[in-house]
Amino acid sequence: MTLSLDSKCLHLEEDTEDSCNRDLKNYGAVSFPIYQTATYAHPGPGESTGFDYSRLQNPTREQVEKLVAQLEKGIDCIALSSGMAAITILFEIFEPGNHIIVDSDLYGGSIRLFDHVSKKNGLKITRANFSKDDIEVLITPETKALYIETPTNPMMNVSDIKKLSEISKRHSILLIVDNTFLSPYFQNPLELGADIVVHSGTKFLCGHNDTLAGFVVTNRTDIQEKLRFLIKTTGAGLAPFDSWLLLRGIKTLALRMEKSAESALKIAKWLKAQKSVVNVIYPGLEDHPGYKILKEQARGFGAMVTFEVNDKEKALSVLKKVNLIQYAESLGGVDTLITYPETQTHADVPLELRRKNGIKESTLRVSVGIENADDLIADLQQALED
Ligand SMILES: *Cc1c(COP(=O)(O)O)cnc(C)c1O
Repeated sequence: MTLSLDSKCLHLEEDTEDSCNRDLKNYGAVSFPIYQTATYAHPGPGESTGFDYSRLQNPTREQVEKLVAQLEKGIDCIALSSGMAAITILFEIFEPGNHIIVDSDLYGGSIRLFDHVSKKNGLKITRANFSKDDIEVLITPETKALYIETPTNPMMNVSDIKKLSEISKRHSILLIVDNTFLSPYFQNPLELGADIVVHSGTKFLCGHNDTLAGFVVTNRTDIQEKLRFLIKTTGAGLAPFDSWLLLRGIKTLALRMEKSAESALKIAKWLKAQKSVVNVIYPGLEDHPGYKILKEQARGFGAMVTFEVNDKEKALSVLKKVNLIQYAESLGGVDTLITYPETQTHADVPLELRRKNGIKESTLRVSVGIENADDLIADLQQALED
């Protein structure tokens, strides 16, 4: 049957076609089983159960891949062992000499991958601010793809996916969107014209800060074929137990995203009124330059709030003083985390680029979880006090 978005976090539409079918599948287990097997017996020569070897496919991994493909409205999805594994494998579709234009503000690990691995492999990488610059003039005959995050990590720049997809289609190049920050619950880049979506499944999709995972989703059969070849060939697929943890985590995606985004807005508004806070960057605030575009292309503004305090000393003191909020790398989980991009997520980004992107020694990033918003505010209040 046709399902709404929140129901799609738990069930595959194909599993609800005929309840008898579903009851027979997996002995009627309500929790999808972990198929902890490396290989599969064949009934006879040329006969197969549909599974041969778990590097190619495993039933538990297949289930989570189908679920994420359904949520992102793609025709296929591959599940990898981390977000970085997903981006690394995806970039194997390119050839030496290919040119990729990437957003200048991205997750630090992605910048590190492009600068140190992609370039070594012969790719030419150009950086641009996709929320401001004219991208079309940067396209050359060698250009094969545009690569963005929106909102970006950690500066929350918003770019117009539909407009970029018009450019990419005009030049027959790919538009790749890292949709980690909003998750498919709030934004579906494929629907807006993107060709490929990547995810750090570690974040909102898993939702519990307990597993690493990555996804690549597409709606193009030519890309699908390449991705299936790559997961089979490289062996970076998500393990059965981790696939199961993702299946369990995604069930509550709708509830978690709603609650966290509601609290994030409340916290962003509160931070704006604090005298030791000099800048609050949350795209759900109406004065954010990306507010209008995001309102158009997404169903919510997300749970990430970046803010700047008076100086470095204040930032360090907040990190030391938080009690309920944990000072830790990562985001997207039920537990609220505060991160210091300067020495954590973006430490490997060259200093000059970090400053150019607007990351300062006084910049902090909060991933709002599902604790009570007033408790989180009380914790921030005591942490910001002199
Ligand atoms: C964390 C993150 C990644 C990398 O994912 P891992 O699962 O940590 O490997 C990629 N993109 C964004 C936007 C991220 O936040």
